Amino acid sequence: RQAYVNGRYTPHNDAAVHIEDRGYQFADGVYEVVPVYNGILVDEEPHLDRLERSLRELQIEMPMSRAAMKLVSRELMRRNNLSRGFVYMQITRGVAPRDHKFPTKPTAPALVMTTRQMKPHSAEALEKGVKVITLRDIRWERCDIKSVSLLPNVLGKQAAAEAGAYEAWQIDDEDNITEGTSANAWIVTDSDTVVTRHANNGILNGITRMALLDLIEKEGFTLEERPFSVEEARAAREAFVTSSSSFVMPVTQIDDKPVGNGHPGLLTMKLRETYIAYMNSLKEA
Ligand code: PLP
Repeated sequence: RQAYVNGRYTPHNDAAVHIEDRGYQFADGVYEVVPVYNGILVDEEPHLDRLERSLRELQIEMPMSRAAMKLVSRELMRRNNLSRGFVYMQITRGVAPRDHKFPTKPTAPALVMTTRQMKPHSAEALEKGVKVITLRDIRWERCDIKSVSLLPNVLGKQAAAEAGAYEAWQIDDEDNITEGTSANAWIVTDSDTVVTRHANNGILNGITRMALLDLIEKEGFTLEERPFSVEEARAAREAFVTSSSSFVMPVTQIDDKPVGNGHPGLLTMKLRETYIAYMNSLKEA
């Protein structure tokens, strides 16, 4: 397996960055995880749009043109024989003597790309659905930036793992659910309305979220993008999460309470099928 590090393809196990990389010292960088399905990068353009936006918000330059980024991803996929999994891209402000403010001498942004193979989702998770716990959202006010600064997310996911759960849904000061630690949160109400929190600086606007919003509209389901409370989620008929790694994953337990009848929701599974059919319809750009 190979990785791409600042202009070179190197064996994954030997790939390394400088100890004064600002990503390492300050988490001063951003990333993207692009799913690969049937050998195709899923929603590559929106992922690169979001990457460019994250960089712009932090005043970090793109390390190379968008066309070059696409070539490197494809070359790495080819070298690693990747047909199902992810391409991970990370860009930091680069290497400079440790000092919080931006370096005054221009530094070249550092780019790392890796790939990882992914197994199909476990039949058990899909048949039973997954559990989520809820906890306080202790993140910052720019969750719209896909920053590598992920400590609250790490702590949340660890708390979930310790509770035997798949995800932790985070709760803001108004007692509304923002999102999971690495996935967007959705519920389905008794009147078959699909609800997910509106995208602003309080959540990361998932690429899967956006793709699914389009599909929901095309399929003619009723949709509301708005805050929803923990109580509303616990009383919901169905719940699910979306992300590049889980696609659409049914949630059947929130804290200690089953969602609906405790089985993956019918509409949820229909949306999962619709999303997978969408991925299967994609052709190489
Ligand atoms: N929310 C957070 C905090 C995330 O880290 C992620 C993805 O890792 C998502 C949502 C889902 O985004 P996407 O669908 O682009 O993977």
